[in-house]
Amino acid sequence: MSDKPKVAFYWCASCGGCEETVIDLDEKILDVVAAVDIVFWPCAMDMKYSDLKAMDDGEITVSFINGAVRTSEQEHIAKLLRRKSATVIAFGSCAVMGGIPALANLKNKKDIFERAYLDSPTNVNPGGVVPQEESEVDGYKLTLPEFFDTVYKLDDVIDVDYYMPGCPPTPENLANAVQSALEGFLPAKGSVLLPDKSLCVSCDRNESKPDDITISQVYRLTEVQADPEKCFLAQGIICMGPATRDGCDYPCIKGNMPCTGCFGPVSEADQGARMIASIGGIINAEKEGDIADVVNNIPDPAGTFYRYSLSSSILGNQRKEK
Ligand code: SF4
Ligand code: SF4
Repeated sequence: MSDKPKVAFYWCASCGGCEETVIDLDEKILDVVAAVDIVFWPCAMDMKYSDLKAMDDGEITVSFINGAVRTSEQEHIAKLLRRKSATVIAFGSCAVMGGIPALANLKNKKDIFERAYLDSPTNVNPGGVVPQEESEVDGYKLTLPEFFDTVYKLDDVIDVDYYMPGCPPTPENLANAVQSALEGFLPAKGSVLLPDKSLCVSCDRNESKPDDITISQVYRLTEVQADPEKCFLAQGIICMGPATRDGCDYPCIKGNMPCTGCFGPVSEADQGARMIASIGGIINAEKEGDIADVVNNIPDPAGTFYRYSLSSSILGNQRKEK
């Protein structure tokens, strides 16, 4: 039996982009495969939950778990992986902060099921059937995992050793984390494995940002032709750079798209609150109502300021109860 370190990858509630990061290691994946045994990776290899269950506790050197936790199946496997792993890394923004799936916490399960299975204009569901945890078909009992009322971040359900946000994390960030884990150079437990500074510090448009930056209006990207050299905020386009952790090498901005904040906040910060403070500080308000005019033009404030971080924010998992 191989005595190489064992690595596992698992996805919970996510889009699959974090698994793509593993594939995007390109030829570096050959180094990873040479250095470790990948013992559990249901997305890419034919492994069963029973294989995982049969392993010794702590046998896996490091597990990368991506995705938020929305169902009882995801919670069960996350707990099992925790038991079997010496180190667990919350991999990607959904695992770290709830990510896009956590925006569903603005609604409850009843709202979501009604919309998805009953009210959506593209549905044909004359019987008004919604998923049940247990049902009987032709004398057979069928079961589905429980769909929780809340989307949880990973450390709401298990102890997490390290965090690597990103939607998805970059292959370079993953390669560095694997190397650090194998060489035993990981920082203190609980650390985020990325620089603790804001994206603006690295962004090459930062120098174009005037010291006395002010805006009188907020524009959607489709309403203006964004200057590819100038800071987005200085152009009145919301860019989450001031409230977002560095570490992605800003591919969006290089593609003339503003940052939407996928790497989450820097330590101890609430991403949305920090961004609202940044915008509040640059609105050019000369008369009463100017601030309201600008703010009211911000589309979908919760989705703009907390697109990836709602579960870890000061808003928490609050929702409108009917
Ligand atoms: S606000 Fe956006 S475009 Fe401006 S410096 Fe920061 S990251 Fe760059
Ligand atoms: S620029 Fe912003 S949205 Fe784009 S990858 Fe980086 S952190 Fe994510």
